[in-house]
Formats: sequence, structure tokens, C-alpha cells
Amino acid sequence: MSSFTVEADRFQTPTPDHLEAGRVVIAVVDGEITGVERAGTEAARALAEASADHRVLGDNQVLTPGFIDLHLHAPQWQQNGTALDLPLDEWLFTYTFPLEASFADRAVAEAVYPDLVATLLGHGTTTAAYLSSVHDEATAILAETCVAQGQRAFVGRVAMDHPTGTPDFYRDHDAVSGIDASRRSITDIAAIDAGRGLVRPIITPRFAPACTDEMLAGLGRLAEETGTLVQTHCSESDWEHNYAFERFGTSDTEALDAFGLLREHTLLAHANHVRPSDIDLIAERGAVIAHCPISNAYFANAVLPLPDALARGARVGLATDIGAGVRVGVFQQIHDAVTFSRIRQDGVDARKDPDARGVPDAAIDTVTGFWLATAGAAEAAGLPVGLLEPGRRFDAVVFDLDAPGGVIRHLALDDEARRFEKLVRLAGPHDIAEVWVDGVSVHRR
Ligand SMILES: [Zn+2]
Repeated sequence: MSSFTVEADRFQTPTPDHLEAGRVVIAVVDGEITGVERAGTEAARALAEASADHRVLGDNQVLTPGFIDLHLHAPQWQQNGTALDLPLDEWLFTYTFPLEASFADRAVAEAVYPDLVATLLGHGTTTAAYLSSVHDEATAILAETCVAQGQRAFVGRVAMDHPTGTPDFYRDHDAVSGIDASRRSITDIAAIDAGRGLVRPIITPRFAPACTDEMLAGLGRLAEETGTLVQTHCSESDWEHNYAFERFGTSDTEALDAFGLLREHTLLAHANHVRPSDIDLIAERGAVIAHCPISNAYFANAVLPLPDALARGARVGLATDIGAGVRVGVFQQIHDAVTFSRIRQDGVDARKDPDARGVPDAAIDTVTGFWLATAGAAEAAGLPVGLLEPGRRFDAVVFDLDAPGGVIRHLALDDEARRFEKLVRLAGPHDIAEVWVDGVSVHRR
């Protein structure tokens, strides 16, 4: 049994509009948080004294929950930061499908995935929901890499069989073989995780244009039968949104629902173009919008109506959408989510009257953004993390605000709210001193 206590200045956001700041002592036993007491109290002293391994973080260090990336494409890692010049449908066929197809060679997966997972951990991403490629072997290597490096993850073998929505060099042979491979991958990943619950399979129809009706329906049945979570894309761009109406006569959201894929905790990447009635359906089913602020700026042709989605009761979390998202860490995209929401609210065309330029009540603040990447995302994905509270797993990040090369200054003059805002807007991977997943230190600077 491993146990320790840690005293630290903690930032966390139990709700979208509430920042909790203050010094606490946290007790961790076998990865689970068993006690949290306010520092300086008798209870905190007792907790520390009972611990054989008590650690104290400095005044200029802060402890936060680990950050949760609800959507990214592992085989697109080499492409991240490039290839942003084409619209979504052309981008897939020109750059992305050929790159993903190269993971048929296990040596490519062995070269790329350890670097990706280590880099994400170094950016504070303690949980990642990965889309892999269609390949069984490369998908298993990704899951093994997450286990080896100690990252919490969902790993999804991508299913895609549509004869015109995918290229002939990169697709499942047919729906039956794609569904079989998805079923195998659920068993494979469960075996790789070996009962720890750290790395889990997730059923992954790429998106409606890449899948036949038979594939979508078969994967819906597989989800129902096995209780495995589902992830896919939904109404990302004008093209994808309109495609669904032409093919199914319904919205993308309604089509996914009809195929049994819109389930509790189903992760829907983007969803920028969903209608209010689609958001209501997403909320009713308990599904999740994985909001990808930077990727959306390049590929989605719109900014997600985030406050509206939250007000309608939809679950929403944050995601990088690597390799269409540019910025590596989901923590660093909190600032981008705030910025793009402001742009939606204020508008972009100065030739229009200010009142007619933007969308009222569209902006979020840094507290809501932080919640989207921690407690909100954890609840959305059904994971016992996201807050440093008793009963949750200890997934946490230590920021060192005096780090060499850092840009966060004058902290002694700041109150907690300003310290928090500086952290969220300014901190980068160079400010991260240590990262913990499930009570295990998985990254140290
Ligand atoms: Zn994606």
C-alpha cells in the first residue's frame, strides 16, 4: 500500500462559476484521496502527523487537478501544427488519411506514440480520449504506451468503411470486419489494462461520412451489448452538418441517436453546428460535447455556442483535437476557449454596428474554462477525477510559478483570483514541475 500526504495551495473549480483557492493538506492512499483538510487546522496537523511521507509545496507552487483532453487523434501527432490550409473534407483526404494509413506498420506506432504520451503528460494532460487508427496492432501499442507511462486514457480503434467517405487504401474491408475488429479491440485493451481501470476501450465510429449505415448500427449494438463508451464527431463543419441532412434526412445528432450511438457519456467532438433541439437531445441522452477551440477556428466554420449548451444542460468538456488543434496541452487551450468565446460575443467585422456584430451572452471566463478541462470533463466522461476531493483519484499537476523562463510575475502582490487568472492565461509546460496520475508521479521537470 502506498500512502502520502501533501500540503499545497490548491486551485479547483467544483462548478463552472466557482473557484476554490486555499492551502490544504491532502491524504492519498493507493491513488485515492482519502482526506482533505484546510491547512493550519488541527485536523490538517493530525493528517500530516499520521503520514510517514508528508510533502510540503512552496509558496510559489500550486496544485491543481489534472487536465482532461476529451478528443485527440494519436496518429496525427506528426502533423500537429501543420496542414491547416484546407477545408475539413479535403484536409482528410490530402493529409490525414495517408498519414493515419502509415500506422499499418507497427514501427511507426512504436516511434510516435511514446513521444506523444510523454509530451502530453508534460503538458499536464492526465487523461486523454484518443482516437487511434483502424489498425489493431497500432491501437494496442497506444494502449500499452498509456499503461507504461501511467496516463489515464480512453483508446478507440477507429471504424470507417464507407466506400466514398474513405480512401480505398485506408478503411475497414466492410462493416462486419470493422465491427469485429472494434469488438476485438475492446477485449485487447481490457487485457492490456489488466483490471486497473486506467486505460479503457472506447467504440469509435470515425464520423457519419466515413461509415455505412451497417457499421453505425452495428457499433450502436456493440455499445449497448458491452456497455463500452462511444466517441465520434458530430456536426463539425457546414459540410459535415449538411451531409447528414442529405444522407439521412435528419441532423447528425439525430442520426447518431437513431443508430444507438448517442448514449450516456458519448463524446461528440466539435458539435459547432448543432441546432438548439440537437443540444436538447444531447442533454437528454447524457452525451458530451468535446469542445476544441483552436481546431474549430480552422475547420468548423463557427464558434461553439458554449454558454447556450451549458444552459441547456448538455455536458461539455475541452479538447485539443490534435493534430488539427495546434496547441498540445488541453490546459493551454483553456485560454483559447475563453478567447474564442469572446470573439463570438463581440463579433469580428468592424464595419458592422457593434450591436449587430456578435452574439450576446456567448463569452465564458477563465473559471468556466478551467472547469471544462477538469471537473466538468470528469463528470462528462464519468471519471472519478477532476477535483482534489475525498473519494476521487489523485490526478494532479504541480505548477512552479518561479520556474526559469516563466512569465508569471508579481505573485506576492496578487490575491487568489489574480493568481488563478495569471496561471490559466500564462502558464506553459515549462511551469509544470510534476504530474500525478492515480497517485503515481508520472512526470517531473
Ligand atoms: Zn477529431
